[in-house]
Amino acid sequence: MQFEKTNRTKLNRHPDRGSFDKETIYKIIDEVFYCHVSFLQDNKPFVIPTIHARMDDNIILHGAKASRMLKHISAGNEVCIAITIMDGLVLARSVFHHSMNYRSVVLFGSGEEVTDANIKFNTFHAITNHIMPGRWDDARRPNKKEMDATAVVSIKIDEASAKIRTGPPVDNAEDYDLPVWAGVLPIIPMFSEPVHDPDQNEDILLPDYIKKLLK
Ligand SMILES: Cc1cc2nc3c(=O)[nH]c(=O)nc-3n(C[C@H](O)[C@H](O)[C@H](O)COP(=O)(O)OP(=O)(O)OC[C@H]3O[C@@H](n4cnc5c(N)ncnc54)[C@H](O)[C@@H]3O)c2cc1C
Repeated sequence: MQFEKTNRTKLNRHPDRGSFDKETIYKIIDEVFYCHVSFLQDNKPFVIPTIHARMDDNIILHGAKASRMLKHISAGNEVCIAITIMDGLVLARSVFHHSMNYRSVVLFGSGEEVTDANIKFNTFHAITNHIMPGRWDDARRPNKKEMDATAVVSIKIDEASAKIRTGPPVDNAEDYDLPVWAGVLPIIPMFSEPVHDPDQNEDILLPDYIKKLLK
């Protein structure tokens, strides 16, 4: 399954790094905890970082009812969302050719507010388990008051592209003899030793779903 290559998602710079493959794009979206949502309001551009989850072909965002961004999306306005994973620093022999290895997605879509209580409850499940698989079955679930205090929007992914850079630096031919170290410094995201809440009853042990992430 592929997203259609449209006028605005067609990559002009390095089209060789582009992908419109749905599975590739969804894997990147699902690997990251947060995205950057951009929109125009009163003809002025804004970019807001926020947590996301994907449910099928939709991006789910949530937040305070007062959120300007969520109100803007609820009104049916279109947004552009960027999701980025950095895989490594690419250190070339020349300053000019330094780069990064990355996997990124840019997507476009219009949203609507999720008002149906059952669907809204499911979006909380999706967001919670996206950040920490297993947490939904452990933590107290949202009550009606908390659900009412939270706005949720669902953005149908209409257009999307991925761009992926891998591999070593690409230097000018004459620079390969320079005595400068060149290569890739990989970036691997990892969790560190958990810090117990000082108010935590010490009898409560670290759950397996967290231990699993520390191996
Ligand atoms: C971590 C990171 C660091 C980067 N650093 C630089 C940098 O320093 N300088 C630089 O010039 N570029 C950098 N890029 C690449 C940058 O994201 C753009 O692809 C590039 O600048 C071309 O921009 P453009 O608007 O001319 O793209 P065009 O090729 O004209 O974009 C057309 C369409 O292609 C799609 N597209 C473009 N870029 C991406 C993308 N990254 N991911 C998914 N879809 C995309 C969008 O739908 C866009 O509307 C970086 C990318 C990442 C992820």
